[in-house]
Amino acid sequence: MSSETTDDCLAERETLLRELGTLSLLLQGSLFERYTVCSRPGCKCHSGERHGPRHYLVISENGQQRQKYVPKAFVEVAKEGLSQHSRLREIVDRITHLNLAFMHEEHDYADQ
Ligand SMILES: [Zn+2]
Repeated sequence: MSSETTDDCLAERETLLRELGTLSLLLQGSLFERYTVCSRPGCKCHSGERHGPRHYLVISENGQQRQKYVPKAFVEVAKEGLSQHSRLREIVDRITHLNLAFMHEEHDYADQ
């Protein structure tokens, strides 16, 4: 199993699994800002000063893209949630690598 010892890999997997449990703000999607024009006659938004930004998260729901409004007070929380999702993917990739290495090791023993 290359230069990694099984004990180190098991310990690393434990650490990663514990870290997964801390990703409580998780969000999958992408955040965007929208500036809008309203229907009030004479509103400043009609002369270029649009309302906003309002923030939305684009998510996938049953294979459909949906835009969900994110209240201003939660924009930073949403950003943290998206960054936790990147970390989630890194952890899943790493655990995949470790678990495959465990399989190969088992297989090598079984072949002896
Ligand atoms: Zn307006």
